[in-house]
Amino acid sequence: MAKTDGEKVWRIVARVDDEIIVKQSDIVEKAIRSARNAVCQRLCKSAGINYELGWWKGRKHKDRRDFVDNFLGKPLYLLKDEKVEVEHHDVPCEVYTIEMVRLKFRKMTLLSPENIDAWGNLHWGQGDDEKFNLLGAKLPIPPHLCIGEDFEEEEVIAISDAQTCLDECPGCKSDVPFGTIILITEHFRLTPTQCCSQMIWTREKPSLDNEDWS
Ligand SMILES: [Zn+2]
Repeated sequence: MAKTDGEKVWRIVARVDDEIIVKQSDIVEKAIRSARNAVCQRLCKSAGINYELGWWKGRKHKDRRDFVDNFLGKPLYLLKDEKVEVEHHDVPCEVYTIEMVRLKFRKMTLLSPENIDAWGNLHWGQGDDEKFNLLGAKLPIPPHLCIGEDFEEEEVIAISDAQTCLDECPGCKSDVPFGTIILITEHFRLTPTQCCSQMIWTREKPSLDNEDWS
């Protein structure tokens, strides 16, 4: 018996840890979206963080979508009742860590001076192991600093002691407290100020050996 097109769907298969997630829809974008949501829910659950509706929306969350997309296989157009053949979808065996998930999904809200210590660790909880070091992590660059350019995010390539680089706090102009750090990326510097609790971004001056940039 001939099958009609109406019985065909787009199917997408994803894998998180050993769990296989199957989503299908007659519209490919819908199938992808529900697979992404299911992967995101599963990742949030394993990282112990709340799943946020609309987590994927907008330019600033491209990073999250890209991260989640690493778990998705290739969409296939097939008969609705066809047996799921995981291997036909080229489903990746994506390896991730709880820290990666927390960084992707909570970075924006966590990035505040209260959560950053003198060693450059970002704390997401009270426990001693509930932190990760920002060296090597990517920071979202505030859009007003990159007008006409498209930085989006930059990796922290060094962490330095603010007391040795600054004469005064760039926020409140008082003495820089002990333990204040500067996170350095290729084009920017971020100082989480301990005295006045601000996240102060500055643009790196082109000169490499001029430390007096303030
Ligand atoms: Zn200050």
